[in-house]
Amino acid sequence: MTDHTPTRGYRRIATEEAWCPPELFRLFRKELEEKTIDEPGFHSLYGFFASEAPRAKALASRIQSLGEERIADMDRSGIDMQILALTAPGVQLFDPIEGSALAVRFNDELAEGVARHPDRFAGLAAFSPLDPGPAARELERGVTKLGLKGGILNGHVNGTYLDDPQYWEVFEAAEALDVPIYLHPNCLPKDMVQPFLKRGLDAAVYGFACDTGLHALRLVVAGLFDHFPKLQIILGHCGEALPYWLYRISYMHGHISKTGRYPDVAPLKREAKDYLRENFLYTNSGVADPDPINYIRKVIGPERMMYAMDYPWQFEPQEIALLEDGLGLDAAGMAAFFEGNAARVFKL
Ligand code: MN
Repeated sequence: MTDHTPTRGYRRIATEEAWCPPELFRLFRKELEEKTIDEPGFHSLYGFFASEAPRAKALASRIQSLGEERIADMDRSGIDMQILALTAPGVQLFDPIEGSALAVRFNDELAEGVARHPDRFAGLAAFSPLDPGPAARELERGVTKLGLKGGILNGHVNGTYLDDPQYWEVFEAAEALDVPIYLHPNCLPKDMVQPFLKRGLDAAVYGFACDTGLHALRLVVAGLFDHFPKLQIILGHCGEALPYWLYRISYMHGHISKTGRYPDVAPLKREAKDYLRENFLYTNSGVADPDPINYIRKVIGPERMMYAMDYPWQFEPQEIALLEDGLGLDAAGMAAFFEGNAARVFKL
């Protein structure tokens, strides 16, 4: 179903596509062997995906490709362009200083891969979120020197969320550079993962959405967007279900924030749902289902909902045709969802 000359009238840009440099994959494998980091969620996920199981080996090969194998898969599934980001936990598994050094190397490597195929790839800059000054400077370098299109925040860092103002320099930089930050899931932190692990619900099946939705809401209620009102955060997986909760989150937070019950919770300038509508963009990564996509187009806005596949974690080449058939959008709606919104947001 390769379709490069879009008789369909739009390019398909997939906006949450994972890449793992071979050096990072080796570092993940080293951690699996040496077990120096107490993160059961990481050990559960990569204990499988760095193993010799057939599904794991296929993923390991695809996710490390920045060339022919990846492009062949894109052609097979009719994807014209991928927005690439360092796969979770990326540099955030390591101590913050080491993470900053790794981010520089991986961003250089990503930019080189994009430069070899500029019509097929664009990329987001990694940074080490708990090393705030260098994180902000690396985002700026990635955007202004390497041509990357925004930042990738791979969730919490060993249980630390970015709602603490001491880590906001990178958000300040993103707003000043007018680029989005993609808030992608990470494996659940160790003090959250146990109730999910026993039944295998810790990762993409459900746990990721719980933790990433929590992270997004922590950013909202901490007042991040009152400080940086133009900042734009991207959520995948149909917004980790937050668009479904607009009413109740706004209603309850509106009351809770006035009671003084929680010392770190204060009223915001706008309602919680306003931030979710005005400071967040959404993709359908991993959710090839027309109904939640159209729901977000309705309750958030058609200009804020973008296509993503979540390659290679969820690579089902037939999904895209089924999705297109089911969406029921007119030509302008299809063009916005698959191409136009991403072209605007990432300045392609
Ligand atoms: Mn993903």
